[in-house]
Amino acid sequence: MDPGKWNVACSMGLSGDRTVNLRKLNLQAALRALAASAGLTGLLVLGSWRLDADILERIGPGLSTMLVLAASTVVLTSLLLWNAWSVQRIEGDRSAAQRRANESEERLRLLVEHALDLIVIVGPGGVIRYVSPASTRLLGYSPEEVVGMSPERYEHPDDLTKLVQSRARALEQPGVAIGPVQVRVRHRDGSWRHVEVVHRNLMDEPSVCGIVTYSHDVTERVRAEIVLDQRERYFRALIEGAYDLVTVMRADGTIRYTSPSVERLIGWSPQELSGSQILDLIHPDDLPEVERALASLAATPGAGVAVREARVRHKDGSWRVLEWAARSCVDDAVIAGIVVNSRDVTERRRAEDELMASLQLQEAIIEGTADMVFVKDAEGHYLTINAAGAAMLGREKQDVIGKTDHDLFPPEQAAFIRETDQRVMTSGQPLAYESSGVGRDGGVHTYLMTKAQWRDTAGRVIGVLGMSLDITARKRTEDAMAYARDQAREAVQLKSEFIANLSHEVRTPMNAVIGFTDIVLDSDLSTEQRDHLLSVRSSAEKLLGLLNDILDLSKLETGSIAPESAPLSLREVVHETIDMFAAHGRQKGILLTSDVTPDVPDRVEGDAARLRQVLVNLVGNAVKFTEAGEVTVRLWSEADAGGAAGVHFTVADTGIGIPADKQHVIFEPFVQGDGSMTRQHGGTGLGLAIAKQVVGLMGGRLWVESSEGHGSVFHFTMRFTPTAVASHPGSRTTAPEPREGVGMIEEGAPRAPAPVATAATPLPLLGRVLVAEDGPDSTATGRRPS
Ligand code: ADP
Repeated sequence: MDPGKWNVACSMGLSGDRTVNLRKLNLQAALRALAASAGLTGLLVLGSWRLDADILERIGPGLSTMLVLAASTVVLTSLLLWNAWSVQRIEGDRSAAQRRANESEERLRLLVEHALDLIVIVGPGGVIRYVSPASTRLLGYSPEEVVGMSPERYEHPDDLTKLVQSRARALEQPGVAIGPVQVRVRHRDGSWRHVEVVHRNLMDEPSVCGIVTYSHDVTERVRAEIVLDQRERYFRALIEGAYDLVTVMRADGTIRYTSPSVERLIGWSPQELSGSQILDLIHPDDLPEVERALASLAATPGAGVAVREARVRHKDGSWRVLEWAARSCVDDAVIAGIVVNSRDVTERRRAEDELMASLQLQEAIIEGTADMVFVKDAEGHYLTINAAGAAMLGREKQDVIGKTDHDLFPPEQAAFIRETDQRVMTSGQPLAYESSGVGRDGGVHTYLMTKAQWRDTAGRVIGVLGMSLDITARKRTEDAMAYARDQAREAVQLKSEFIANLSHEVRTPMNAVIGFTDIVLDSDLSTEQRDHLLSVRSSAEKLLGLLNDILDLSKLETGSIAPESAPLSLREVVHETIDMFAAHGRQKGILLTSDVTPDVPDRVEGDAARLRQVLVNLVGNAVKFTEAGEVTVRLWSEADAGGAAGVHFTVADTGIGIPADKQHVIFEPFVQGDGSMTRQHGGTGLGLAIAKQVVGLMGGRLWVESSEGHGSVFHFTMRFTPTAVASHPGSRTTAPEPREGVGMIEEGAPRAPAPVATAATPLPLLGRVLVAEDGPDSTATGRRPS
């Protein structure tokens, strides 16, 4: 509000006081003027008296009296005339002034009474003495109702402090307009109006004698401001709460505003960015495009830039990919710049890049494969097919895409393909089948067709994915292999039959040789003859052993041997085997021990002869290939899923060991670690091959761990049927009486490393000592007896 206007208004307030009659005010002034003029007349009368006395002294008493009378008459007459004239003139002046005053008052009254603003005069007692008619509109009360009331009746309680302060200041500064202050006044209907109030202290003005309050109704303006403010807050909240980033920049790229999400996007706070140059944040490679866009926006008010991408530097130095769109508001007086809306698409871009790379990879794989790969929609149209697939159909890719099988194949074949497609789509089960057709080379080819459902992201079946492999070559190989296998089986069978026949044919005369040799040996012979015959018998026995081995292996290979199942004692079998080699071991100074953990069941059902055959083979080899040290047979229980008693056996020696490159071949028939003619150790190379077959027959596995020069450990597992008899408590029950020479570790006793027995150092006794009888010749007994 113009202060001048307020002054004028306050002056008007003076004139418009209903309790102070303006007409009376002017009359008083006129009376004061009249009183002043009456005093001047008296002076003139006194002055004229002094003049007459001087003249009378000079002209004498008679004349003087006449003169005085005459003068007095003249003066009096003049005075009366002048007085009459003055009164008349004053009356004239007074009526003119009165008229002017009336006119002025009328003017002021009209102004005040038609003024939109409310004018109130509050007297010294804080009570309203005068109020302009605007009170009816502003407060809902007529002036008569308001006069005599305290202004606080309609003033808002929360604004009282402001108002009291303003009035206090007005009291301190008489005549000075104080304000405006914006406060609320209550309308009679209970609503609040916003007014701007100016106070002026006119206490000293007798015609006013109060504080004039001029209230200008600003309700509509304030309401408009509130609406504007709400709208602004609404839009501000929209922008500031937006997930996307809103930036306002000048045409030259200077940032004026950034919404708070900028901190989440690129790490900088809006304050840090305000006033900085946007181009400084753009990746150099993206800069030219952004600069071009800015220039075009700056030059074209109202123009927009569609969605683009640019890399923007994050506060941590990394680059974020922002997708942005802009609108030029350079001609808008408020914005005067470019509004940019952007969002972080770094992760999306990365995912898209990865997807693209993956799609390209898939495309490359599909296109690179020599097999047919295709996708069909639910109606059977080929959506895609690789070049190899199209070539299989004798067409180009574009000749296949969009077509159905009815366009590509004869009706019967097309119907079959369609039927399989529909079966895959409805059942959800992948389908694979072989089909044949004429290939590009004109020959008949076999294809393995695999089909699966194709679903969209919502899980709806939308087609079929298919792959067709040309398996013609594989088929041929399989057929060839099957033929070879059949041939091999036939050959093995033939070989087996041959060996069985041969064995039978050789064994009969061989038994005769041995039998007759024994008979001759019982007769009187010279020492030399006896030696020769003993050699004959030994050789015949070896030959018979070899024959037995060959026959055994042959039978095992053809699967014509079934393991027996009878009660047996595992410990007995182990001890018998050790006993068998005890003498030979003692001769070589080798300690033979066994170590059976208590959890190994003693009595089980199985094939004792086959177990013994394996143990004899392995212990025989261990003794054969060990020159010093020990040979230990160990057994422990192993969990077996099938309810059988799984037992793990090891035969460990401290012998020559097996070179790493030989370890995998020694289980083959007729293969020996040292295959040279000059080899030191005898044998046929059949023992381990037979042992492996036997172990397999008994549901187990045979393998070796060995280090050349440091001995070998042969492992094998076997499965037995547990019997009702409880497992062995931990002592040997059927072992022969201990005798000096060979040691055995008592079950449960500490596992001390077995000392090496030599001729010079007698073997220590470890627990119970088993001294085996001199056993049969190791070579002969290392094999399963016939
Ligand atoms: P043979 O013992 O009759 O030669 P095997 O099949 O029993 O036939 O053994 C094959 C080969 O495995 C042996 O010739 C030998 O080289 C090697 N071999 C077997 N057991 C041992 C062992 N305990 N220590 C070292 N080498 C062994």
